[in-house]
Amino acid sequence: MFTAKEISEINALLTPESNIVIVSHHNPDGDAIGSSLGLKHYLKTKGIEATVIVPNDFPKFLKWMPEAKKIVIGEYKRKVAGEAIYNADVIFCLDFNSPTRIGLLGDWVTKAKAKKILIDHHQMPEQFDYVYSDTTIPATCQMVYHFIQANNDERSVNLDIAQCLYTGIMTDTGGFRFRSTSASTHRIVADLIEKGADPAIITSNTWDTNTISRLHLLSLVLSRIELTKDGKVAILWLKRAELKEYGFDKGDTEGFVNYGLSVLGTKMAVFFMEDLYEDFIKISFRSKDSVDTNQFARKHFNGGGHINASGGKYFKSMEETIEDFKEKIEAEEF
Ligand code: 5GP
Ligand code: MN
Repeated sequence: MFTAKEISEINALLTPESNIVIVSHHNPDGDAIGSSLGLKHYLKTKGIEATVIVPNDFPKFLKWMPEAKKIVIGEYKRKVAGEAIYNADVIFCLDFNSPTRIGLLGDWVTKAKAKKILIDHHQMPEQFDYVYSDTTIPATCQMVYHFIQANNDERSVNLDIAQCLYTGIMTDTGGFRFRSTSASTHRIVADLIEKGADPAIITSNTWDTNTISRLHLLSLVLSRIELTKDGKVAILWLKRAELKEYGFDKGDTEGFVNYGLSVLGTKMAVFFMEDLYEDFIKISFRSKDSVDTNQFARKHFNGGGHINASGGKYFKSMEETIEDFKEKIEAEEF
């Protein structure tokens, strides 16, 4: 958590007259959108308006969240996003550790005169004016709740805040399953339920939303899971032509990589997907126990993230990428 001195400095910056911007990462997920909107709704309880900006569009299954439709999407509204960042007095940076993770917003945020406040749980955060970084916490949404607690404002948590924070905690913990899910996580979730977050409705809105295109893509991907490194690593992949053929929509492949990790005996899973428009392959890594995907993704695949969940990018063909991956993973000790 921020120190008491930092908390009071931050609060001095947060006034109804100041321009507050909240930014989150490229390809926003439930935690990115949930923490940004949760913080926005919290600031509103203090009479402070904030603008949420993300670099690119996010999946439909997150658009039910209160005020999700008011989020400024940089790739569609460059001028609005650029001006808001330029004029900001304070920029909250949520759920990312480096300006390189916010796509086209990165340069603007770096150059902005605003005080930059980081709240994030990824490995190796970069320099910001105020940093609350904790890699042991499973979701940035949980950290936003801790920030509210540090202000002694739990009583201000309303239905909007509760729904947003619950969603991000639920998605980033994989439904309260992943390793850093703690008693404290569950206590906070209990508080959020008391404030009105409904687990059945939120789960249904977020997860029971499969499109036929998603299920067809899933069946294709599952039919060709390949194991390597003596069965310890599962490989999944999809090519652009397949995405087009099945009518891929943003978010359709969310969670596919986890099926690889569910294979008995695996320690790591990787999912390679050709970008729909540009010539690169987006990679998702997941692992169990101490197998460190953050280091691996940083070292070989232009990426990073958490120990057990990371991502990266590669600029070769699918066949070459998979071949390079197999060679590099064989050299790892686990
Ligand atoms: P996903 O596989 O769900 O896209 O991402 C898993 C985790 O890795 C997320 O926490 C995400 O922020 C991080 N991540 C995904 N892609 C990248 C990337 O290209 N670079 C870095 N540094 N982190 C990434
Ligand atoms: Mn997160």
